[in-house]
Amino acid sequence: MTDAASLEFTPRDMRRMGEAVMGRVVDHLATIGEQPVRGDMDAADLCRAMREPAPELGSTLEPLLDSLFEEWIPRSFNTASPGYLAFVPGGGVFPGALADLIASGVNRYTGVWPTAPALVQLEANVLEWLREWMQLPPSTRGLFTTGGSMANFAAIVCARERQLGTELRRGAMYLSTETHHSVGKSAKLAGILPDRVRTIAVDGAFRMRIDLLEEAIASDRAAGLVPFLVVSSAGTTNTGAVDPLREIAALCRREGLWHHIDGAYGASFHLCPELRPLLAGLPEADSLTLDPHKGLFIPYGTGAVLVRDGEALRAAHAQTASYMPESRDAEFYDPHQYGPDLSRGFPGLRVWLAFKLYGAARYRAALAEKRTLALDAARRIAALPHVVMDAPPQLSLFAFHLEWPGATPAQQDAATRELLERVTRRGKVFITGCHAGGRFLARVCVLSFRTRKAQMDTCVEHIAEEASAICS
Ligand SMILES: *Cc1c(COP(=O)(O)O)cnc(C)c1O
Repeated sequence: MTDAASLEFTPRDMRRMGEAVMGRVVDHLATIGEQPVRGDMDAADLCRAMREPAPELGSTLEPLLDSLFEEWIPRSFNTASPGYLAFVPGGGVFPGALADLIASGVNRYTGVWPTAPALVQLEANVLEWLREWMQLPPSTRGLFTTGGSMANFAAIVCARERQLGTELRRGAMYLSTETHHSVGKSAKLAGILPDRVRTIAVDGAFRMRIDLLEEAIASDRAAGLVPFLVVSSAGTTNTGAVDPLREIAALCRREGLWHHIDGAYGASFHLCPELRPLLAGLPEADSLTLDPHKGLFIPYGTGAVLVRDGEALRAAHAQTASYMPESRDAEFYDPHQYGPDLSRGFPGLRVWLAFKLYGAARYRAALAEKRTLALDAARRIAALPHVVMDAPPQLSLFAFHLEWPGATPAQQDAATRELLERVTRRGKVFITGCHAGGRFLARVCVLSFRTRKAQMDTCVEHIAEEASAICS
């Protein structure tokens, strides 16, 4: 007789189930390079057929794993593939999966320092490492979030609290035409409505134009508004452009504005001292978004924000309640005082375990390699007939379009779109596009830790063959 009210498994069963799951994951990862980079995405019928009532009785694990690994996981963008050059990749390192197993297995309460002090200290350590790599001062405090979007949100809330207080409607903020859409969304969530968000045009390299930014600030001041925040990008999602961070920082200091840098794509390159000149001015940010699930290769679900005046991050979030364990010791970082979550997972463990197992040196080597691969591929692709390189890599992302004599802009856009589709359909590399500078561009983003020279050779080869077929 099973005891229906008990949800425990025996140690033997837990071991057996754990081994079954681990076996599937390892088999999946061992063959990741041979799996199509984009599964069969015509899945509407599949999804309809999957709708089912909640199971009244439990089932065994194996058939569930069969469905997951054989039917459902393959019907997706293979974001873990070494050939995934779409959007902004990352890959998802295995230590992240191990950390999740540990964190969920022991299920400790890591949002509150007094309840798991040593575990919270691990998270504080990692935030401190990030701070040092970004060269921010010791006053900085940070927060692991679910992603770059929520990191941008936290930063906007800090800026709003510090700069505007209760005067929300007078505040105006500035971003560029190339800024990630999560910034506008976060502004709205933070109470800064779209009529107070100014979109500044970019220069020929897709960087925010300082002269226009200055004009916009002046014109808002003249209209009685309170300019309070500039959001710049350390690597835009469209073309990888790094805004003139140093000039924007200087302008913000002069004008008394908060400068937030969205480094969700590019900030991790600051780990490499030789690449820091590409991000000059980044350490001057008032706040900075990093996205460990992109440039630190952590599995999805981990972003991070660093705030130079750590007190601003705390002031925006700190609350007390009589039922909460008291954190008397101000010396120790207490996550729930710095962010919106109370109960939550253990994001710090994922990043901590990855850095402890690999060491920072290997991370730097991997990041530097991704940039070198992008530079090399961009050079070869730019040399192909019919290719115009609109945005050579500033970091590890480049964007281009197809062109031939007599082609209309609409024909070029269609051809560039066709190129993405044809290359991706071949199953080895996945590239996506964007609208920038008035046309449709193909973009290649090298940031998965699994992407190596072999995939970039294939990328160049498949682009060359398909471009030539389309333009002939
Ligand atoms: C990906 C990205 C974001 C959003 O981050 P998520 O982790 O997807 O929420 C914000 N800004 C930039 C520049 C990005 O590339």
